[in-house]
Amino acid sequence: MTRMLSATRIAALLVILALAPASAQGTGGTVATLGYQPGIDVRDYDIRIELPDTGAFIRGDVTVTARRAAGVSTLLLDLVDALTVRGIEVNGRAVGPVHANGKVEVPLGGATGDSVSVRVRYDGRVTDGLVVLKDAQGRWTWFGDNWPDRARQWLPTVDHPSDKATVSWTVRAPVNRTIVANGTLLGVRDVGGPRERRSETRWREALPIPTYLMVIGAGPLVNVPLATTGCTQPDPARCLPQSVYVMPEHREWLPGPFAAAAPIVSYFETLVGPFPYEKLAHVQSATRFGGMENASAIFYAYDLFTTRRMSVGLIAHETAHQWFGDAVTEREWAHLWLSEGFATYFAALWTRKASGDSAFRAEMARIRTQVLADSVVASRPVIDTAQTNYLALLNANSYQKGGYVLYMLNQQIGDSAFFRGVRSYQARFRHGTALSDDLRLELERSSGRPLGPFFDQWLRRPGVVQPNIGWAHDAATGTISLLVLQDSVRGAYEVPLTVRVTERSGAQRRVDVVVPADARATVTLPGRFDSAPASLDFDPEQVLLARIGRP
Ligand SMILES: [Zn+2]
Repeated sequence: MTRMLSATRIAALLVILALAPASAQGTGGTVATLGYQPGIDVRDYDIRIELPDTGAFIRGDVTVTARRAAGVSTLLLDLVDALTVRGIEVNGRAVGPVHANGKVEVPLGGATGDSVSVRVRYDGRVTDGLVVLKDAQGRWTWFGDNWPDRARQWLPTVDHPSDKATVSWTVRAPVNRTIVANGTLLGVRDVGGPRERRSETRWREALPIPTYLMVIGAGPLVNVPLATTGCTQPDPARCLPQSVYVMPEHREWLPGPFAAAAPIVSYFETLVGPFPYEKLAHVQSATRFGGMENASAIFYAYDLFTTRRMSVGLIAHETAHQWFGDAVTEREWAHLWLSEGFATYFAALWTRKASGDSAFRAEMARIRTQVLADSVVASRPVIDTAQTNYLALLNANSYQKGGYVLYMLNQQIGDSAFFRGVRSYQARFRHGTALSDDLRLELERSSGRPLGPFFDQWLRRPGVVQPNIGWAHDAATGTISLLVLQDSVRGAYEVPLTVRVTERSGAQRRVDVVVPADARATVTLPGRFDSAPASLDFDPEQVLLARIGRP
């Protein structure tokens, strides 16, 4: 997703129905452990939602199909207490509801077999997760916005990214509401009685996705198809349909920046592999983020359309997430950089493809400057297992530093090994989950190099490399030696270092050395230097996340 967003959008446009209380359930209270619910693996959610004509009162009827390990006698579904459970069935047999402290406790005792089907009927007024708004023209809209664990605000789920599942949506709403959701549109039909016209829209996401990406959008949206010229596969049936769902007054603006949507998908397919989902919708929505990468249905902030501030860079970022974060999902929140770092770096790669190398280098230089100036980067590691407030993980570590670390890795092992490793990581974990070491192992295989030290120093330690470097010329041997001193508190880094040697004549030479991970190291430059040089510049292109000083 992209951070951004501000009160101005909300104030300018929309009537907020109900603000979530400051202590809103969703962050802080949950424990992000591997095995969020041991012995339970949800396979599918069949979600039926009845939307009202106006307001935030919904009725839900959700069937959860799960596998359970032997001996597991309870399924715990996350659902806020503000919603009222009306009935629970286990494999078709009614059981008594126990709903307290944000959990629906479902006894599985009577059920036999390792697959269980649990149906939960509930209703109530939603205050978050499904964002219900009325705009200045009196038009009501409903948009799912679940990141990180706000699905429980409107859906009974195992609400953690480690447990991905397929999802079917059946949404009943007054006619004249367009419903968009994950996956494939199965159909729309009238279901209203004589008194009221209502319609039922069904979508099906046949590939497993985490709960934080399961959404519907509903409102007087129009669906504007985009070109499918991005098809790169030899089989035209695999062309990816893309479209934009917007309020009708923005139809004339399109495709606008969305003209880039098809080439962005094609380019990422050449780098990473086939687009993971059935379609890609770009939706004007009420997400609290600038953009939210919901699987196959990217939600963008409402006013990016009203103010025409939608950028191609944002579209590229959210589109990259369809592979990174969506198809391959971080199994634990602490590894969020696997999602946001990749989206940041791949948006920059799109910049290079579309605007050339100098625009790319300028974008990476901006990112580097942000990383070096950031206080969270200085004080916490990228893989921040101590952080339990997930919203606080939307920081320069997950985005800018994560993206820049991928850039350094790409440079250090080269394009061929980097993209082969990324492709095999995608292929191996596609529609599953991964941790940082899973990526490391794939890149070690593709590069033939051990990357443990690289991952540890850049991702598991706060800050950046901070060497103090002095040098001396020995006229007798014609050599230049560097004395490199590194901070011993947080540990020394092993880094490749480019040195630009400027002779007294003005001639320049570039040489590459490797600085070892020692508190104090002497490094001799390759080659012969008969006379003392005028100056040495370290990392002259500023490609390292480094602050280089003098001893
Ligand atoms: Zn993102």
